[in-house]
Amino acid sequence: MSAVRRVGVEGAPEVVRQLLEVDGNFALLVTILVIAAIVVDGILGGMKRLRRDTGITRRMVVKAVDGGSFVPAREFYSHRLGLAGRPDALVEEGGLLIPIERKAFGKRPTDKDIAQLLVYCRLIEEQVGVRPSHGYLILGPAAKRWRIENSSERREWLDGVLLEMRRALEGGPCVATPHPRKCAGCGVREGCEVRR
Ligand code: SF4
Repeated sequence: MSAVRRVGVEGAPEVVRQLLEVDGNFALLVTILVIAAIVVDGILGGMKRLRRDTGITRRMVVKAVDGGSFVPAREFYSHRLGLAGRPDALVEEGGLLIPIERKAFGKRPTDKDIAQLLVYCRLIEEQVGVRPSHGYLILGPAAKRWRIENSSERREWLDGVLLEMRRALEGGPCVATPHPRKCAGCGVREGCEVRR
């Protein structure tokens, strides 16, 4: 006849009760550690994904991310220039605020992308009082990073672009410069008089 009897914890001898208590605490500790590991893994995975998607490297000091909850996006504006904008991200390099613009489908930096990034540089300079020496364009699914210098030549070029835009907004002539490759896939091609 078996000597083993099933008893409840209440009915167990003191030594057994203590063992069960120790085991219970140990199980609780293990559970907490497992949950903590899962949470940390999720956070690290999320950060890794964020870095991969935004092209932000580990060495960058992140100051703002559009859609980020820890470091929310920053809006910049200039009444003088009549411009406002919000970079996809901001990092700090050498004490400077550096804007980052992400183009998920870009392959190479276009004039439009560069102008947009330079406008952010100009807005940061206006609002913060320090000129960013460069910005970054992050292009394509592989998040390739292109460093765009905020050089005097580029600043002059941007001044020209902004002047042209202002004139157009005030009713000045607009000259279309369509590209055949873009026109080929354009949804309003049939009704466009300047298509190529
Ligand atoms: S078809 Fe007309 S609207 Fe479309 S890309 Fe060409 S120029 Fe622009």
